[in-house]
Amino acid sequence: MTKHIFVTGGVVSSLGKGLTSASIGLMLERRGLSVRMQKLDPYINVDPGTMSPYQHGEVYVLDDGAECDLDLGHYERFTNGPLSRDSNTTTGRIYRSVIDKERRGEYLGNTVQVVPHITNEIKAAVRKLAEPGVDVVITELGGTVGDIEGLPFLEAIRQIPLDIGRQNCLFIHLTLVPYLKAAGEAKTKPTQHSVGQLRQIGIQPDILIVRTERDLGREACEKIALFCNVERNAVIEEPDKEFSIYEVPLGLVDHGLDQIIVDKLALNAQPLDLSHWRELLHKVRNPEHEVTIAVVGKYMQVRDAYKSIYESLDHAGIANSARVIVKRIEAEELQQQGPEVALSGVDGVLVPGGFGMRGIEGKIEAIRYARECELPFFGICLGMQCAVIEFARNVLGLEDANSTEFVADVAHPVICMLNEQKQITEKGATMRLGAQTCVLEPGSLAERTYGTTVIRERHRHRYEFNPAYRRQFVDAGLIPTGNHPDGHLVEVIELPSHPWFLAVQYHPEFKSKPPAAHPLFAGFIEAALQYNHLRVQR
Ligand code: GLN
Repeated sequence: MTKHIFVTGGVVSSLGKGLTSASIGLMLERRGLSVRMQKLDPYINVDPGTMSPYQHGEVYVLDDGAECDLDLGHYERFTNGPLSRDSNTTTGRIYRSVIDKERRGEYLGNTVQVVPHITNEIKAAVRKLAEPGVDVVITELGGTVGDIEGLPFLEAIRQIPLDIGRQNCLFIHLTLVPYLKAAGEAKTKPTQHSVGQLRQIGIQPDILIVRTERDLGREACEKIALFCNVERNAVIEEPDKEFSIYEVPLGLVDHGLDQIIVDKLALNAQPLDLSHWRELLHKVRNPEHEVTIAVVGKYMQVRDAYKSIYESLDHAGIANSARVIVKRIEAEELQQQGPEVALSGVDGVLVPGGFGMRGIEGKIEAIRYARECELPFFGICLGMQCAVIEFARNVLGLEDANSTEFVADVAHPVICMLNEQKQITEKGATMRLGAQTCVLEPGSLAERTYGTTVIRERHRHRYEFNPAYRRQFVDAGLIPTGNHPDGHLVEVIELPSHPWFLAVQYHPEFKSKPPAAHPLFAGFIEAALQYNHLRVQR
């Protein structure tokens, strides 16, 4: 029988519920259990694909093309259980499905209501992951207790123990205990209120994970346990980790969280082995080298806008025993300052994905500088498209080259809309999405870096390299070295005359893990280290 863990949050948002859920997944997997992770998001968008990074941070893409919440990125980086479209469900998806059923007449004769129809649909979305062979499903509920839109989800997870037995379910609640400097103490009242709200709905948490700025001490923990009706040993402190997010699972395990979960759910688990994770942290703590990478983008103030890119750079640092310092550069500022100033002291330039025209010229300037100064360059999705535009303008002499995303009737549309996109009018989930096969040119930088000729990588775009210009680019030295198997789409370009200049139409950042850096990120950082070596000698 599959057991269920529900993770809810209270007091404030941004407590790191995703990271904590992923950490629980990691520790259970490292006790030999088969785990599935899931996120329920109470907003009404069917998926986050139509939201701006300012609203939502990065949109994470899965192999099956699902556009997801970025917490799924934490899940994939920390755990190994497969994720799919069913791993992220929103209010919009639930309602869409219920309304479709209503139109098909599946509820004929009935009034369709939040309880039981919406709640049944939510329960089915949770239970769907409880396939044979799965020991534990971990379901994280987005938002905080008290949000109006979260209520149907809380009601649904309240009912699940009635269906499958209370002993098969575990409720974990994450809260904040703020430290009030003026009072000189930690305040437990918001946590008490948050748990009170949960209990009003009918959910008694089994475990409280308490986020704190500084150690709470025995007394505060005892008070929380008493007032929240939770066993003392099940009140677990999770102090801020300033050094690395990889410390989170280790801190929770030090408080015995894995054993408490195993005991409460009566799981048949092996002893914990987190040695690989400790090794990882050791490497992060003791780097031998240091390298500075400029990420030139549009949402540099939004912490989570390029989440997976920053994480992948960290993984590549670990693989190269290096600390990667990221210099976040607003493309528009780079354009004003000039690349010489903005990029001074950096060892590599990465231009990530994006949409819309703002910042484009700054990105193109950064790429020109990297190409001319033999500075390692890595372009991703829009970053590749900008590299193509830059080369067309400054090497091929096609001065007004551009993407038709930015100028519809441009004279030289070196980036143009994919054929398959031309008839599409809807914006939600209609891009070229998910894992696609790509064939790499033997002997190319891409092929040598991957160590293989056939790869599968995840996509999310509407525009592509215009094949009409292929010959011109090749003749001038910018080579498409990765192509769709039937040859009609360019997926990788590189400049063999440059030490490391490579750009890809897909998103490699969605397939990098802390103990297994993505080969392109690892290769990029290796090249940046070599550049750094020369720069320091100079
Ligand atoms: N806006 C570009 C396109 O749609 C690039 C998308 C991206 O970088 N993810 O093709």
